[in-house]
Amino acid sequence: MDSTALHSVASSSAAPNTPTPVVVGIDAKPSWLAGFVGDNPYFQAGFGLMAMGVGATILRQGAKQGAVALQRRMLVTLEMTNKDMAYEWFLAWMAHQAKQTGQTRAASWVKSHNLSVETAFEQRKNGSSSAAFRLVAGPGNHYFKYRGAWMQVKRQRETRSVQAVTGKPWETLTLTTLSRDRNLFNDLLSEARDLAMQDQQGKLVVHTAWGMEWRPFGKPRDKRPLKSVVLANGVGEKVEKDAKAFLSRKQWYADRGIPYRRGYLLHGPPGSGKTSFIQALAGSLSYDICLLNLSERGLADDKLMHLMSNTPERSFILMEDVDAAFNKRVQTSEDGYQSSVTFSGFLNALDGVASGEERIVFLTTNHIEKLDPALIRPGRVDLSVLIDDAHPEQALRLFEKFYVGREIDIPAVDVDRLGQTLAQLVQTEWDAGRRVSMAALQGHFIRTENPAEAVETSQTLFK
Ligand code: ADP
Repeated sequence: MDSTALHSVASSSAAPNTPTPVVVGIDAKPSWLAGFVGDNPYFQAGFGLMAMGVGATILRQGAKQGAVALQRRMLVTLEMTNKDMAYEWFLAWMAHQAKQTGQTRAASWVKSHNLSVETAFEQRKNGSSSAAFRLVAGPGNHYFKYRGAWMQVKRQRETRSVQAVTGKPWETLTLTTLSRDRNLFNDLLSEARDLAMQDQQGKLVVHTAWGMEWRPFGKPRDKRPLKSVVLANGVGEKVEKDAKAFLSRKQWYADRGIPYRRGYLLHGPPGSGKTSFIQALAGSLSYDICLLNLSERGLADDKLMHLMSNTPERSFILMEDVDAAFNKRVQTSEDGYQSSVTFSGFLNALDGVASGEERIVFLTTNHIEKLDPALIRPGRVDLSVLIDDAHPEQALRLFEKFYVGREIDIPAVDVDRLGQTLAQLVQTEWDAGRRVSMAALQGHFIRTENPAEAVETSQTLFK
């Protein structure tokens, strides 16, 4: 029976004036429920609220998904972690842009209020130290415009875990821009890389240990010409020739299964040019220098081993004044502090694990007699050279570098004669057991403009 039929049956059986409740359809609610639903204001309000809630949720979800979809379609992101070289390049690039003005600026910068300072600190063997600061974008969001495109930079720091090797927190940089500008990421990163390289090209980069890793210290330095370090005849050439021969024999070492490493010891009195020569040689071979201070606090055997096995490519490891570091096999610094590097740990680190990686170590000392023979044995030190106080011909060459060809009132022949006089003086003093360091001579020539005066007053320099 359909509902219309039922309706007609019900109506026909009732008295004509009595209003009859109308029941529609076989599944219709009983009348008490209809009354409850229809009349109960609480239910109506609750239903309305629920409907609104559901509607809002659907809308919100929709908006969220819409935003995500829109973001996917319209935005691109690029992620860099601080394990990657690009991370440092990009931060340096950002810092560089912030300093630029007008035409030289590749990106217009929205001044960031959230900066981080990066400090590099170097303690030199003469006790002096220096620090270099760089202000970079700190954690948080930063915005800039690069070639007409807006970009967001988000720097995030992971607070719950740190890198096992360096002890530094993990960091991520996320660059976001519009999809259509995705190609700009490439340009931007190339620019950041070129900036980093341009800073280093033709320069000497000195790295220092930073926790468990090597980091460039300060700005790359101008290379010092090898010829500007005046050593006794043939000495510099001998080391240079040896290093070049070593570098050309990688395959030879590999074929014989010999660890590809070479150790040099430059010994001699202070101020004779040991450090200057190593730096100049590194520069001439386009190598960097990794400066390792054995007396550094916090340096222990395992850390030393790690640092020595993980140097940046093409770099010399330089350890200065090794005699002071290991006096009587106990490592002490001037203030009596004993670092945790043991002598055997040091020897192990020098021997290293057999690896195909090339390693060139330079050690310097003012007192070779204080060194333990175990340190100087071949394999650890393959070539040991004396870099001495000024020999007569060295003094003459240094004198000529300062005074020959300069615009002074003294005729050239007289300058030559003065040079010979100085050389003779150095020889006479040498025979009498008195010497002068090249550093002292250099300082004297810098202070004295007149060559005649320089020779006359040089007597006081001998010790
Ligand atoms: P060392 O490492 O032997 O103590 P350095 O290389 O630190 O000596 O030299 C100290 C200073 O003296 C530097 O400024 C360097 O230019 C100068 N000097 C020392 N020896 C020489 C040399 N043989 N030729 C030119 N300059 C020298």
